[in-house]
Amino acid sequence: MKTSDLPPLRLYGLLGRTLGHSFSQTYFREKFQRLGLRADYLLFERAELGQLRTLAEAQPLLCGLNVTIPYKMQVLAQLDALSPAAAATRAVNCIVLEASGRWTGHNTDVIGFAQALDELLAGAPCPPALVLGSGGAAAAVRYVLEQRPERPQVHTVSRQPAPGQLNYAQLDADVLRHHRLIVNATPLGMAPHVADAPPIDYSHLGPEHWLMDLIYNPAETEFLRRGARQGARTLNGLSMLYAQAEAAWDLWQADWQRRAAATVGPEV
Ligand code: NAP
Repeated sequence: MKTSDLPPLRLYGLLGRTLGHSFSQTYFREKFQRLGLRADYLLFERAELGQLRTLAEAQPLLCGLNVTIPYKMQVLAQLDALSPAAAATRAVNCIVLEASGRWTGHNTDVIGFAQALDELLAGAPCPPALVLGSGGAAAAVRYVLEQRPERPQVHTVSRQPAPGQLNYAQLDADVLRHHRLIVNATPLGMAPHVADAPPIDYSHLGPEHWLMDLIYNPAETEFLRRGARQGARTLNGLSMLYAQAEAAWDLWQADWQRRAAATVGPEV
């Protein structure tokens, strides 16, 4: 019998309202199988957030959670500590349930986007940027851009008028030529609405632009397709998706190693 066939010693899971087919569950179950770990990854689909402590009492082996729409902000009130990125973005997509009973919230979208951005820029300095959308993912994108050593100019583009933000009608030739990095942090173009794209004049883009879409399904969104047609370098959201999952795993695994060291418990 393989180690991974024995009952799990630790559980992780995804908390959200409508989960359906989950990338995370498949990703982590395959990972646990591959590494021969006695661990499992469950889906916690909740119409209301409810009390996380009640969920943990029902699942005493629970060591960590991913959090998705619409609870990334709501969970903050139930946590004991926040990482700097989670505190700055006011969004948590990963919780470590430490053995001490302390629950810490992290934002691994920040780590995922930072890695994906490095991949897209391939060593080039980060240019002035437009971030399309003003939701949780956009907050992670802005946080990463604001931390970059180049201190690029960053403008949010939103349908909602707000001081310091641009709206789509303001994206004229000058604005689009100046901001050579454009990140789509809206759901526009996500399957099944694959013909949708952010309403910008793509004819002002060129080979000096970088376009990143946080969407990974379809692999080439209409946004990326139109940018690529102008010669822009493009990247979809798949790299970010994998990187944020790996970042969550690093946090959970570090906690597990601390637990093992404290109890001289099993290593798996
Ligand atoms: P969200 O809160 O539902 O939406 C983000 C923003 O998009 C909204 O705040 C809104 O901004 C704008 N928006 C929504 N519908 C729009 C429309 N019809 N036209 C124009 N703008 C619209 O979503 P989110 O959680 O921030 O995620 C955004 C996208 O990133 C999603 O596609 C999600 O799947 C993706 N994502 C990917 C990863 C990854 O790992 N690759 C991680 C996180 C999120 P305004 O109201 O300000 O216009």
